[in-house]
Amino acid sequence: MKILNDKNCSWINELVTRTNIQALQSNENCDWLIVGAGYTGLSAARKLGQLYPNHKIILVDAQLAGEGASSRNSGYLVDTTLNDGFTSNKELVNYKKKVDIYELGINCVKNFINEYQVDCDWNECGKYFASSKHEDNKILNNFSNTLSKLGFENNLLTNNDLSKRLGTNFYNIALHTKGGILLHPGKLVRAMVDVLPKNVYLYENSSLLNWNKNKDEISCEFKKGKIKAKKIIFATNGFLKSLGIKSNYNFPITLTASMTRPLTNEEFTSIGQPKEWGVLPVRPMGATIRMTKDKRILIRNTAEVHNPFKMKKSDLKKRSINQRIGIKKRFPQLPEDIIQSSWSGVVSRTRNSSQIFEKIDNNVFVAGCYNGSGIGVGTLFGEQIALKASDQNTKEIETIEARSKPNWLPPQPFLNLGVKTRLIYERLRARSDI
Ligand SMILES: Cc1cc2nc3c(=O)[nH]c(=O)nc-3n(C[C@H](O)[C@H](O)[C@H](O)COP(=O)(O)OP(=O)(O)OC[C@H]3O[C@@H](n4cnc5c(N)ncnc54)[C@H](O)[C@@H]3O)c2cc1C
Repeated sequence: MKILNDKNCSWINELVTRTNIQALQSNENCDWLIVGAGYTGLSAARKLGQLYPNHKIILVDAQLAGEGASSRNSGYLVDTTLNDGFTSNKELVNYKKKVDIYELGINCVKNFINEYQVDCDWNECGKYFASSKHEDNKILNNFSNTLSKLGFENNLLTNNDLSKRLGTNFYNIALHTKGGILLHPGKLVRAMVDVLPKNVYLYENSSLLNWNKNKDEISCEFKKGKIKAKKIIFATNGFLKSLGIKSNYNFPITLTASMTRPLTNEEFTSIGQPKEWGVLPVRPMGATIRMTKDKRILIRNTAEVHNPFKMKKSDLKKRSINQRIGIKKRFPQLPEDIIQSSWSGVVSRTRNSSQIFEKIDNNVFVAGCYNGSGIGVGTLFGEQIALKASDQNTKEIETIEARSKPNWLPPQPFLNLGVKTRLIYERLRARSDI
C-alpha cells in the first residue's frame, strides 16, 4: 500500500525544497539494502558508507527521505521519560538500562552535529514534566526520587514559577529536568540526507512491496524494479508490521500535531516573553506542548490506532480543532485562528516499551520501535545496527542488548481492541491536560 502523507508539516515546509530526487526505475544489485530513510535508515547508511567505501549501498524510501516521523515529531531529544513506578530496586535497574540508551542516543546526535557542523536549533534547556492537577504531585515526587537516585538534576516547581517560565497559568506543578535538548527535527534529518556518503544510492518514492530470501540472496520487489541484496536492514519503524517484520512484537500508532504561526510581538508580550521551553505531560495521553525558538507554539495531544498509510483531510481537521482547544486552554489571550498547520505521523510501539534491535535471519537485520522517543535512539540504533550487521561488537551494542526484548502481542482483532481500550482509559485519566 502507498504511504500518502499530508503536506502540512511546518518543520518540513520551512526547509529548502529538494531537487535531486530519484525513484527506482530499473533492476539493481547491491551489497547492502536499507529500507526506510528516517533517522534510523539514514544513520545506518551513513555508517555503512564510512565502513565500506567500495561497497554499493542502496537506501530506499516510500516517500521523500526524512519526511516521515523523523521530520514530523516534536523535537525533544530526551535523556529521561516519565514512568509511573520505577521505585523498587529492580525497577530502578531497568530504568537505568533505559536511560543509558537515551544517553548514548544524545551523544550520537551530538557527535553527528559536531562532525558535520549541523544547525538544528539545538537548545540544551531541559524540559518540564507538567500537570494542571495538584494530585499529580505524588507521581512527580516519586519520579524526582528516581531521577535523583540516578544522578539526574531535577527541580520541582509550582504555579507561580511556572507561569513566569512558560507564560501560562495552566500548570500547577512540574518537574524540570536539566538534561534533554529541544531541536528542529526537520533540520536534523535533512542534514542526514545531505551528508550521505557517495557510495549510498538513495531511491525515493520507491515503496518496497514484497521481499523474500532464497538461501543467501535477498530479492526485493518495487513497482518499477527489483533489487537483489547481500544484506538488508529494515528501518521502517511504524511500518515494520505492515512488512511482516516482527509483527507479533510491534504495532503502529498515529500521532497528530499542530503548530501556530509565529506570535506577534504584542501576543508574545501578552504571555510574558518566555524563553524557549518544552513541556511533556505527566499522564501518557496529556499534551506535549512547546514554545519554539521563533515564538511558535507546537501541540501534540493525540495518539491513536489509525490507518498508518493515510489520514483523511477531514480527520486531520477534527484533530486540529482539538489542538486549537488545547492551546486556548493554556493561552486564552491568543486568537482562535492561530494554528498554521496540522499534520500526522506514525510511530511504532511495543508492549513493554523496549525497542527492537535484532538479526532476524541470516543477513537480515531490523532496528526500530522507539515508543515515541526516537530522535536519539533512532540515530544510535541506525549506526549500531550497521555495525552489528558487519559482525562488529561495541559497548553501545552491549548496552542496547542489555535491555529486555519486546514482549509478544496478541493477534488481531484482540490487539487493536486492547490498545484502543487502553488509549481511551489513558485519555480519560489525562482529560484535563489534553
Ligand atoms: C507527532 C510526533 C511527535 C513525536 N515526538 C517525538 C519527540 O519529541 N522526540 C522523539 O525522540 N521522538 C518523537 N517522535 C517519534 C520519532 O519521530 C520517531 O521515533 C523517529 O522518527 C523514528 O525514526 P525512524 O527512522 O526509525 O522512522 P521514520 O522516520 O518513520 O522512517 C521510516 C521510513 O520508512 C519508510 N517506509 C515505510 N514503509 C516503507 C516501504 N514499504 N518501503 C520503503 N520505505 C518505507 C517511511 O516512508 C519512512 O520515511 C514523534 C513522532 C511523531 C509522529
